[in-house]
Amino acid sequence: MSEKWIAGVDLGGTATKLAFINMEGVILHKWEIPTDHTNEGHNITKNISDAINERLAELDHPKTKIVGIGMGAPGPVDYETGVILNVVNLGWKDNFPLKASLEELTLLPAAVENDANCAALGEMWTGAGEGAKNIVCVTLGTGVGGGVISGGSIVQGANGAAGEIGHITVMPFGGAPCNCGKTGCLETIASATGIVRLATEELSKEGTTGGLSELFAENGKVTAKEVFDMARNGDVIAQKVVNEVSFHLGLTLANIANTLNPQKIVLGGGVSKAGNFLLESVKENFSKFAFSAVRDSTELALATLGNDAGVIGAAWLIKNKIKL
Ligand code: ZN
Repeated sequence: MSEKWIAGVDLGGTATKLAFINMEGVILHKWEIPTDHTNEGHNITKNISDAINERLAELDHPKTKIVGIGMGAPGPVDYETGVILNVVNLGWKDNFPLKASLEELTLLPAAVENDANCAALGEMWTGAGEGAKNIVCVTLGTGVGGGVISGGSIVQGANGAAGEIGHITVMPFGGAPCNCGKTGCLETIASATGIVRLATEELSKEGTTGGLSELFAENGKVTAKEVFDMARNGDVIAQKVVNEVSFHLGLTLANIANTLNPQKIVLGGGVSKAGNFLLESVKENFSKFAFSAVRDSTELALATLGNDAGVIGAAWLIKNKIKL
Protein backbone atom coordinates (compact mmCIF):
# COMPACT_ATOMS: atom_id res chain seq x y z
CA MET A 1 0.00 0.00 0.00
CA SER A 2 1.38 3.38 -0.89
CA GLU A 3 2.20 5.90 1.83
CA LYS A 4 -0.70 7.92 3.21
CA TRP A 5 -0.46 11.64 3.87
CA ILE A 6 -2.00 14.14 6.25
CA ALA A 7 -2.96 17.70 5.26
CA GLY A 8 -1.70 20.27 7.79
CA VAL A 9 -3.08 23.81 7.69
CA ASP A 10 -1.92 26.87 9.61
CA LEU A 11 -4.32 29.77 9.22
CA GLY A 12 -2.85 33.23 9.51
CA GLY A 13 -4.35 36.69 9.17
CA THR A 14 -2.88 37.32 5.71
CA ALA A 15 -1.67 33.91 4.49
CA THR A 16 -2.65 30.30 5.05
CA LYS A 17 0.13 27.71 5.11
CA LEU A 18 -0.67 24.24 3.82
CA ALA A 19 1.42 21.07 3.77
CA PHE A 20 1.21 17.39 2.94
CA ILE A 21 2.94 15.52 5.72
CA ASN A 22 3.73 11.83 6.15
CA MET A 23 3.00 9.73 9.22
CA GLU A 24 6.44 10.46 10.66
CA GLY A 25 5.80 14.21 10.64
CA VAL A 26 7.98 14.97 7.62
CA ILE A 27 6.75 17.73 5.29
CA LEU A 28 6.66 16.46 1.70
CA HIS A 29 5.00 19.43 0.00
CA LYS A 30 4.24 22.87 1.39
CA TRP A 31 2.75 26.03 -0.04
CA GLU A 32 0.77 29.12 0.90
CA ILE A 33 -2.44 30.75 -0.23
CA PRO A 34 -3.77 34.21 0.67
CA THR A 35 -6.36 34.27 3.47
CA ASP A 36 -9.60 35.67 2.05
CA HIS A 37 -11.64 37.35 4.81
CA THR A 38 -14.59 38.34 2.62
CA ASN A 39 -18.02 36.69 2.67
CA GLU A 40 -17.95 36.50 6.51
CA GLY A 41 -14.92 34.23 6.31
CA HIS A 42 -16.76 31.49 4.40
CA ASN A 43 -14.19 31.56 1.59
CA ILE A 44 -11.44 30.51 4.01
CA THR A 45 -12.44 26.85 4.27
CA LYS A 46 -13.56 26.70 0.61
CA ASN A 47 -10.16 27.97 -0.54
CA ILE A 48 -8.36 25.45 1.68
CA SER A 49 -10.43 22.61 0.25
CA ASP A 50 -9.81 23.78 -3.34
CA ALA A 51 -6.09 24.22 -2.70
CA ILE A 52 -5.79 20.65 -1.41
CA ASN A 53 -7.70 19.22 -4.39
CA GLU A 54 -5.68 21.25 -6.89
CA ARG A 55 -2.35 20.24 -5.39
CA LEU A 56 -3.35 16.56 -5.33
CA ALA A 57 -4.32 16.79 -9.00
CA GLU A 58 -1.00 18.43 -9.85
CA LEU A 59 0.86 15.66 -8.04
CA ASP A 60 -1.38 13.06 -9.72
CA HIS A 61 -2.62 11.55 -6.46
CA PRO A 62 -6.22 10.57 -5.65
CA LYS A 63 -8.07 12.18 -2.74
CA THR A 64 -7.76 8.86 -0.86
CA LYS A 65 -4.06 9.63 -0.46
CA ILE A 66 -5.05 12.02 2.36
CA VAL A 67 -6.34 10.49 5.59
CA GLY A 68 -7.39 13.66 7.34
CA ILE A 69 -6.88 17.36 7.80
CA GLY A 70 -5.55 19.16 10.88
CA MET A 71 -5.77 22.90 11.22
CA GLY A 72 -4.47 25.60 13.53
CA ALA A 73 -6.40 28.87 13.77
CA PRO A 74 -5.82 32.09 15.68
CA GLY A 75 -8.21 32.29 18.63
CA PRO A 76 -9.60 29.99 21.30
CA VAL A 77 -10.99 26.76 19.88
CA ASP A 78 -13.30 24.25 21.51
CA TYR A 79 -11.37 21.12 20.54
CA GLU A 80 -14.28 18.71 21.10
CA THR A 81 -16.75 20.54 18.86
CA GLY A 82 -14.21 22.20 16.56
CA VAL A 83 -15.92 25.55 17.05
CA ILE A 84 -13.73 28.65 16.99
CA LEU A 85 -15.02 30.85 19.78
CA ASN A 86 -14.08 34.36 18.80
CA VAL A 87 -11.74 35.70 16.19
CA VAL A 88 -10.91 39.17 15.15
CA ASN A 89 -9.84 39.97 11.58
CA LEU A 90 -10.93 36.75 9.90
CA GLY A 91 -14.50 37.71 9.12
CA TRP A 92 -16.03 34.81 11.06
CA LYS A 93 -18.80 35.50 13.51
CA ASP A 94 -18.29 34.21 17.06
CA ASN A 95 -18.64 30.44 17.44
CA PHE A 96 -17.88 29.60 13.80
CA PRO A 97 -18.13 25.79 13.27
CA LEU A 98 -14.68 25.48 11.68
CA LYS A 99 -14.26 21.71 11.94
CA ALA A 100 -17.74 21.03 10.52
CA SER A 101 -17.14 23.44 7.65
CA LEU A 102 -13.80 21.80 6.79
CA GLU A 103 -15.27 18.29 6.92
CA GLU A 104 -18.23 19.24 4.77
CA LEU A 105 -16.05 20.80 2.08
CA THR A 106 -13.09 18.38 2.06
CA LEU A 107 -15.02 15.20 2.91
CA LEU A 108 -12.10 14.37 5.20
CA PRO A 109 -12.01 13.94 8.98
CA ALA A 110 -10.78 17.18 10.50
CA ALA A 111 -9.40 18.44 13.81
CA VAL A 112 -8.83 22.07 14.75
CA GLU A 113 -6.87 23.72 17.54
CA ASN A 114 -5.53 27.11 18.49
CA ASP A 115 -2.47 27.98 16.36
CA ALA A 116 -0.06 28.44 19.28
CA ASN A 117 -1.12 25.03 20.59
CA CYS A 118 -0.46 23.52 17.15
CA ALA A 119 3.03 25.03 17.14
CA ALA A 120 3.62 23.43 20.56
CA LEU A 121 2.44 20.04 19.27
CA GLY A 122 4.71 20.38 16.23
CA GLU A 123 7.74 21.10 18.42
CA MET A 124 6.76 18.17 20.65
CA TRP A 125 6.47 15.76 17.72
CA THR A 126 9.50 16.49 15.54
CA GLY A 127 11.11 19.66 16.94
CA ALA A 128 12.93 20.83 20.06
CA GLY A 129 10.57 18.84 22.32
CA GLU A 130 12.14 15.64 20.96
CA GLY A 131 9.09 13.63 21.86
CA ALA A 132 8.94 14.83 25.50
CA LYS A 133 5.36 14.52 26.73
CA ASN A 134 5.43 17.52 29.10
CA ILE A 135 6.46 20.70 27.36
CA VAL A 136 5.57 24.37 27.29
CA CYS A 137 6.00 26.40 24.10
CA VAL A 138 6.18 30.16 23.99
CA THR A 139 5.92 31.88 20.62
CA LEU A 140 7.52 35.31 20.67
CA GLY A 141 6.25 37.05 17.55
CA THR A 142 4.21 40.20 16.97
CA GLY A 143 2.34 38.92 20.03
CA VAL A 144 3.22 36.22 22.55
CA GLY A 145 1.47 32.86 22.22
CA GLY A 146 1.67 29.85 24.45
CA GLY A 147 0.92 26.15 24.39
CA VAL A 148 1.07 23.77 27.34
CA ILE A 149 1.35 20.03 26.69
CA SER A 150 0.85 17.71 29.62
CA GLY A 151 1.08 13.95 29.23
CA GLY A 152 1.20 14.40 25.45
CA SER A 153 -2.05 16.37 25.28
CA ILE A 154 -2.70 20.07 24.95
CA VAL A 155 -4.08 21.61 28.13
CA GLN A 156 -7.26 23.28 26.86
CA GLY A 157 -8.89 24.53 30.03
CA ALA A 158 -12.57 25.24 30.59
CA ASN A 159 -13.00 27.43 27.53
CA GLY A 160 -10.07 26.58 25.24
CA ALA A 161 -8.14 29.52 26.63
CA ALA A 162 -5.46 27.72 28.68
CA GLY A 163 -1.82 28.47 27.93
CA GLU A 164 -2.34 32.17 27.21
CA ILE A 165 1.15 32.88 28.49
CA GLY A 166 1.29 36.19 26.62
CA HIS A 167 -1.45 37.56 28.83
CA ILE A 168 0.13 36.74 32.17
CA THR A 169 0.34 40.07 33.97
CA VAL A 170 3.93 41.06 34.59
CA MET A 171 3.40 44.77 35.29
CA PRO A 172 0.42 45.07 37.64
CA PHE A 173 0.87 48.82 37.92
CA GLY A 174 1.58 51.26 35.12
CA GLY A 175 1.95 48.61 32.41
CA ALA A 176 1.36 49.32 28.72
CA PRO A 177 -2.04 48.51 27.16
CA CYS A 178 -2.30 45.07 25.55
CA ASN A 179 -4.38 43.97 22.54
CA CYS A 180 -6.48 41.84 24.90
CA GLY A 181 -7.84 44.90 26.71
CA LYS A 182 -5.72 44.49 29.86
CA THR A 183 -2.51 46.32 30.70
CA GLY A 184 0.92 45.05 31.67
CA CYS A 185 0.73 41.63 29.95
CA LEU A 186 3.95 39.74 29.11
CA GLU A 187 3.08 40.40 25.45
CA THR A 188 3.53 44.16 25.99
CA ILE A 189 7.20 43.46 26.83
CA ALA A 190 8.42 40.22 25.26
CA SER A 191 6.81 40.44 21.79
CA ALA A 192 8.57 42.12 18.87
CA THR A 193 6.09 44.98 19.31
CA GLY A 194 6.86 45.17 23.04
CA ILE A 195 10.61 45.22 22.45
CA VAL A 196 10.25 48.05 19.93
CA ARG A 197 8.05 49.94 22.39
CA LEU A 198 10.57 49.57 25.25
CA ALA A 199 13.43 50.63 22.98
CA THR A 200 11.50 53.62 21.63
CA GLU A 201 10.74 54.74 25.19
CA GLU A 202 14.43 54.61 26.10
CA LEU A 203 15.55 56.26 22.86
CA SER A 204 13.07 59.10 23.27
CA LYS A 205 14.79 60.22 26.46
CA GLU A 206 17.10 63.27 26.37
CA GLY A 207 20.79 62.85 25.50
CA THR A 208 20.89 59.21 24.38
CA THR A 209 24.04 57.99 22.61
CA GLY A 210 25.27 54.81 20.92
CA GLY A 211 24.57 52.75 17.81
CA LEU A 212 20.90 52.12 18.49
CA SER A 213 20.35 55.81 19.18
CA GLU A 214 22.01 56.65 15.84
CA LEU A 215 19.78 54.18 14.00
CA PHE A 216 16.76 55.70 15.69
CA ALA A 217 17.82 59.23 14.71
CA GLU A 218 18.40 58.08 11.11
CA ASN A 219 15.23 56.02 10.55
CA GLY A 220 12.83 57.39 13.14
CA LYS A 221 12.30 53.82 14.39
CA VAL A 222 14.13 50.63 15.35
CA THR A 223 13.25 46.96 14.93
CA ALA A 224 13.44 44.16 17.52
CA LYS A 225 16.23 42.58 15.46
CA GLU A 226 18.25 45.80 15.57
CA VAL A 227 17.82 45.93 19.34
CA PHE A 228 19.28 42.42 19.69
CA ASP A 229 22.06 43.03 17.15
CA MET A 230 23.08 46.22 18.94
CA ALA A 231 22.88 44.61 22.39
CA ARG A 232 25.17 41.84 21.17
CA ASN A 233 27.67 44.54 20.16
CA GLY A 234 27.57 46.10 23.62
CA ASP A 235 25.20 49.02 23.00
CA VAL A 236 24.10 50.16 26.47
CA ILE A 237 20.50 51.13 25.65
CA ALA A 238 19.92 47.96 23.63
CA GLN A 239 21.35 45.87 26.47
CA LYS A 240 19.04 47.57 28.95
CA VAL A 241 16.03 46.64 26.80
CA VAL A 242 17.18 43.03 26.33
CA ASN A 243 17.81 42.74 30.08
CA GLU A 244 14.29 43.91 30.83
CA VAL A 245 12.77 41.50 28.31
CA SER A 246 14.85 38.57 29.61
CA PHE A 247 14.04 39.40 33.21
CA HIS A 248 10.27 39.29 32.64
CA LEU A 249 10.47 36.22 30.41
CA GLY A 250 12.78 34.37 32.82
CA LEU A 251 10.60 35.22 35.81
CA THR A 252 7.34 34.25 34.07
CA LEU A 253 8.76 31.00 32.69
CA ALA A 254 10.18 30.10 36.11
CA ASN A 255 6.74 30.57 37.65
CA ILE A 256 5.17 28.44 34.92
CA ALA A 257 7.84 25.79 35.47
CA ASN A 258 7.28 25.92 39.25
CA THR A 259 3.66 25.01 38.53
CA LEU A 260 4.14 22.41 35.76
CA ASN A 261 7.77 21.21 35.90
CA PRO A 262 7.82 20.41 32.15
CA GLN A 263 10.80 18.59 30.64
CA LYS A 264 11.29 21.47 28.22
CA ILE A 265 10.25 25.05 27.69
CA VAL A 266 10.65 25.87 24.01
CA LEU A 267 11.05 29.44 22.78
CA GLY A 268 9.88 30.03 19.21
CA GLY A 269 8.61 32.82 16.97
CA GLY A 270 10.45 35.62 15.18
CA VAL A 271 12.00 37.10 18.34
CA SER A 272 13.61 33.74 19.18
CA LYS A 273 15.78 34.18 16.07
CA ALA A 274 17.96 36.24 18.45
CA GLY A 275 19.11 32.71 19.32
CA ASN A 276 21.47 31.77 22.13
CA PHE A 277 22.05 35.41 23.02
CA LEU A 278 18.42 35.67 24.13
CA LEU A 279 18.25 32.10 25.45
CA GLU A 280 21.26 32.48 27.77
CA SER A 281 19.96 35.73 29.17
CA VAL A 282 16.49 34.23 29.81
CA LYS A 283 18.11 31.13 31.37
CA GLU A 284 20.05 33.28 33.83
CA ASN A 285 16.83 34.87 35.10
CA PHE A 286 14.96 31.58 34.97
CA SER A 287 17.56 29.99 37.27
CA LYS A 288 17.11 32.74 39.84
CA PHE A 289 13.38 32.22 40.15
CA ALA A 290 12.90 28.49 39.54
CA PHE A 291 12.45 26.14 42.49
CA SER A 292 15.64 24.07 42.82
CA ALA A 293 14.16 20.71 41.74
CA VAL A 294 12.53 22.49 38.78
CA ARG A 295 15.73 24.31 37.83
CA ASP A 296 17.54 20.97 37.70
CA SER A 297 14.97 19.22 35.54
CA THR A 298 13.27 21.78 33.28
CA GLU A 299 15.36 22.70 30.26
CA LEU A 300 14.98 25.87 28.20
CA ALA A 301 15.56 25.42 24.46
CA LEU A 302 15.06 27.23 21.16
CA ALA A 303 12.38 25.98 18.77
CA THR A 304 13.78 24.14 15.76
CA LEU A 305 10.86 23.99 13.31
CA GLY A 306 10.46 27.71 12.60
CA ASN A 307 7.36 28.50 10.56
CA ASP A 308 6.70 24.80 9.93
CA ALA A 309 5.74 24.03 13.56
CA GLY A 310 2.09 24.99 13.00
CA VAL A 311 1.37 22.69 10.04
CA ILE A 312 3.29 19.80 11.60
CA GLY A 313 1.40 20.16 14.89
CA ALA A 314 -1.90 20.43 13.03
CA ALA A 315 -1.07 17.16 11.24
CA TRP A 316 -0.26 15.51 14.57
CA LEU A 317 -3.71 16.55 15.85
CA ILE A 318 -5.64 14.58 13.28
CA LYS A 319 -3.16 11.70 13.27
CA ASN A 320 -3.65 11.37 17.03
CA LYS A 321 -7.40 11.76 16.76
CA ILE A 322 -7.97 9.04 14.21
CA LYS A 323 -5.32 6.87 15.94
CA LEU A 324 -3.11 6.18 12.97
ZN1 ZN B 1 -2.94 40.85 27.14
